[in-house]
Amino acid sequence: MKKPAKKPTPQRLEAEDKKFLWHPFTQMQEWESETPVIIREGQGVYLTDIHGQHYLDGTSSIWLNLHGHRRREIDRAITAQLNRIAHSTLLGLSNIPSIELARELIAIAPKGLKRVFYSDNGSTAVEIALKMALQFWQLKSRPRKNKVLHFVNAYHGDTVGSMSVGGMDIFHKRFAPFLFDTAEAQYPYCYRCPLSLTYPECQIACLDEAAQIIRQHHSRLAALILEPGIQAAAGMLISPPGFLKRIRQLCDQYEVLLILDEVATGFGRTGKMFACQHEGVTPDLMTVAKGLTGGYLPLAATLTTAEIYNTFLGKYSEFKTFFHGHSYTGNPLGCAAALASLRIFKKQKLLSRIRVKSRHLARLLRPFSGMEHVGEIRQIGLMVGIELVRDRAEKKPYLLTERKGLEVAHEARKRGMLIRPLGNVVVFMPPLVTSKRLLERMIRILRESILQA
Ligand code: PLP
Repeated sequence: MKKPAKKPTPQRLEAEDKKFLWHPFTQMQEWESETPVIIREGQGVYLTDIHGQHYLDGTSSIWLNLHGHRRREIDRAITAQLNRIAHSTLLGLSNIPSIELARELIAIAPKGLKRVFYSDNGSTAVEIALKMALQFWQLKSRPRKNKVLHFVNAYHGDTVGSMSVGGMDIFHKRFAPFLFDTAEAQYPYCYRCPLSLTYPECQIACLDEAAQIIRQHHSRLAALILEPGIQAAAGMLISPPGFLKRIRQLCDQYEVLLILDEVATGFGRTGKMFACQHEGVTPDLMTVAKGLTGGYLPLAATLTTAEIYNTFLGKYSEFKTFFHGHSYTGNPLGCAAALASLRIFKKQKLLSRIRVKSRHLARLLRPFSGMEHVGEIRQIGLMVGIELVRDRAEKKPYLLTERKGLEVAHEARKRGMLIRPLGNVVVFMPPLVTSKRLLERMIRILRESILQA
């Protein structure tokens, strides 16, 4: 008889991680020369590694976790679903949690969104939105409308389609030969205004470029895609109030579909259920993922209007069908987790609590503005980016090779909090459930880490 496998020791796990794994967005040569933090378990806003060391989860496990780890209501919902079935397909069949979640998503979504198409991550939700937009115009007998307008520094994921509408050279340039042709416009970056203007006197003049492209090329534009309110991966760049509304007006005027990517901002992160609700904007297509399941399981969705959905209807022989689907589309475990997460929002009146916490966080962050190397503090809800600069007066950035953001993260880890920077921007995105007391502790660690780095 075979002996049962031995419980892996920390040493063995560390060695085998380096031997077998390839980590995302990671220079593996460096990784192999360091000791990895290997997480064994989590509880609330804490993660625990294989040595029993506890860490505050300052990134919400990369922008996912809303209600804390091992949240009883979600654990139970998944277990209950597991006792029924883990997965069955939405191709030619349906399942109970996917129907119920679709109903709940439509209930909380911006008014006008009526249909839910599932997938399993943010990038695929974006691919689906792009493909729906393209096919929509073909079905409307306007096939020349096949280009997409996006913004500089946008990040919509890592698949070829979502990279094509991205604007981050460091991630996307290498793959340029694979990417489809798009139009790109300036996005507001008020701290380093490309037009050297100041809000509100500027009247959001940086929007003129997008407006010009839309006016000139609308007959070729299928859609415009953007991250509403804040370009997250670009370094938490917050767009000024009014920006999104004007984009919506332009899209309406020139018949360009508006795709809003709420993958990072959705589910309370910004203080509203969806960031576009700050400006009362309804997109034609909206993508959600990350926080959809409370940060538990890979599930994503693309929501759209009745008009778009109806355009795809017809006899089988017309081949208007949307030929797209993933094996795990509408996974019942993910949908059960998402339903439990949405119940927590309702039961705990979470949105109003997030707004109170955001104001508290803003107060805690105020003293950072006096720090020598803090250029700008950008915050919306519980999303924070602190841009570090070598010289504040001249807004002179650190070179990326100086790895200032990483140094801060390293210092924070020594002090018991895990964060992950975006270049020179220190990102802080705690789980929505984080108490005021823990927020204070996390901010103290952040401040000490910036001072020390
Ligand atoms: N869209 C936005 C705005 C994101 O921030 C991300 C990931 O950070 C994605 C899409 C891609 O999501 P995923 O990593 O689940 O593919």
